[in-house]
Amino acid sequence: MENILLWFGIAGVALIVLLPAAWRLRQRKGQAAAGQDEPLPAPAPAAASGQNDLHFSARPRSLPSGDNIHLQLEILRQALDLTTAILLWAGPDDKDLQVLSVASLRDDIAVNPFPRGSGIIGGIRQECPEIAVAPVSAHLSIPYYTAEKKTGSLLALAIPLRPGPDEGGQAGKAATAILSLDRESRTAWTERERELVNLVCGKLAQDLQLSHKMEETNRDKEAIHQICKGMQELNQVLGLQPIFEATIRTVKQLTAADFIAISLLENQEHRIVMASGHKSGHFEGLSFPADDGLVGQAIKLRRWMPTHANYQEEFPVFSNSMRIAGLKSLLILPLLKEDQEAIGALTVAGRKPDMFSRERREILEVIASQVTTKIELGRAHEKIYQLATTDGLTGLSNHRTFQLALDNMLHRAMRQSTPLTMVLCDLDYFKKINDTYGHPFGDAVLQEVARVLANTVRKVDLAARYGGEEFALLLEDSDSIGARRQAERARQAINTLEFQHADSTVRVSMSFGLASFPGDAEDKSDLISKADQALYRAKAKGRNLTVCWSDMNAAG
Ligand code: GH3
Ligand code: MG
Ligand code: MG
Repeated sequence: MENILLWFGIAGVALIVLLPAAWRLRQRKGQAAAGQDEPLPAPAPAAASGQNDLHFSARPRSLPSGDNIHLQLEILRQALDLTTAILLWAGPDDKDLQVLSVASLRDDIAVNPFPRGSGIIGGIRQECPEIAVAPVSAHLSIPYYTAEKKTGSLLALAIPLRPGPDEGGQAGKAATAILSLDRESRTAWTERERELVNLVCGKLAQDLQLSHKMEETNRDKEAIHQICKGMQELNQVLGLQPIFEATIRTVKQLTAADFIAISLLENQEHRIVMASGHKSGHFEGLSFPADDGLVGQAIKLRRWMPTHANYQEEFPVFSNSMRIAGLKSLLILPLLKEDQEAIGALTVAGRKPDMFSRERREILEVIASQVTTKIELGRAHEKIYQLATTDGLTGLSNHRTFQLALDNMLHRAMRQSTPLTMVLCDLDYFKKINDTYGHPFGDAVLQEVARVLANTVRKVDLAARYGGEEFALLLEDSDSIGARRQAERARQAINTLEFQHADSTVRVSMSFGLASFPGDAEDKSDLISKADQALYRAKAKGRNLTVCWSDMNAAG
């Protein structure tokens, strides 16, 4: 999953830099006399190389089959277990699609362009921008492969590009970019996967459009430089928190604002998720009714605020009742999605007058639109990450996450010479609970027990659903003495839980087995095995007990 995060991070910068070059090259090719080969142009400067100016007049090397895009497709391929992730491209007047970049396990990728309408992705057009096929039947061909081999499922999407200007400066025809993903698995593409890929396409489209806009509007170099710096900063991060931090850093660099805040609309309220500057600690985390303050209005009306340049009152920034004195400049920009829905607002304020000129505002608007997409992506990722790492019923870490965490914690324990204790615990006679009161009742018991276990461990520890009615705790920097105390606390708390079923009160108990590294076990499998043996002993000794592997051994 981290791979996808990384992919998104670098995709933006690479596309901004490389694709406009491709676009121009295609246009130039169209203008060149038929049959005359142009010499290959020099490479466009890469934003990542430290040259932040985008020299749009620079001559690109070739279609961007460059390392950057390829790397991102490869990461995407690995993360989604794909056979191929491929980016196809056709200029506005091209009849053929060609491969812009590809990451694939196959070695029969078409070298030559192929007609736009061919094969399974030939159906992609304006009215049908997405094709998802699972399973792919044998008679359907995939035009970017030269050999006929089986493919399990395919997902292809047109990246929505708005037309660039024609020679007269009018909106011309749009180029076509298609992202196609295929894999061996015949299972349907999940809603989540499609949602995510759609978001990525939206981001790619936005980056492409932005780079075109920059070419069109002949902005002064400094503005482009500033936007690019901001985008680079933003494109390097993906978690929500880092996105907020990067946004604040970027806005700080772009403006000399004394106060910056990001508000997000959540449950009919706008909440300040991060603030920086004057008394920012006081504001962070505060929520206000959706309509409140200029922030509420900017979100509601989907336009920047305040509209009166000579606003002299104390500003009702976040709420009408909580005014901020001493501000001479204020700009609140809504965070607008592609469909113009506002997800929040970016507030910048300063003590000097006239800090936010029209030009500055336009730059901040570009940044705000990037921030919005990044936040959307960040949210989608967090959801997917959560689904992939936690157990749906209890919300605890799942077995896979447990295994990864155990690897990490053991490494740390070895490196730092600290103990690590693993606790395995299993509900007693749980089958009987299910049989007597029904499965949904059993589920409710599992959820409550999970809650107790989660509350028993510290932040650095891990509580996981090991499988069925069996749970595991990993207690960092705890030897068997400390861990036993913790396990006993959990055992007693679980034993005092009361569940109502019709007229009866039901109680449950749990058995605990624990083993420690390095005291009881020397590696991962040894640790799991010994915790399991201790649990087995707790069951054998009558259940509702905590047994340490070391005690067991001492007792013979
Ligand atoms: P013991 O004390 O020896 O552990 O006895 P037990 O009955 O708990 O053990 P057994 O392994 O025979 O039964 C485990 C039961 O846990 C059987 C299974 O139906 C139930 N179980 C596993 N997962 C779930 C779940 O997600 N929900 C519910 N309600 N029950 C589950
Ligand atoms: Mg059991
Ligand atoms: Mg069991």
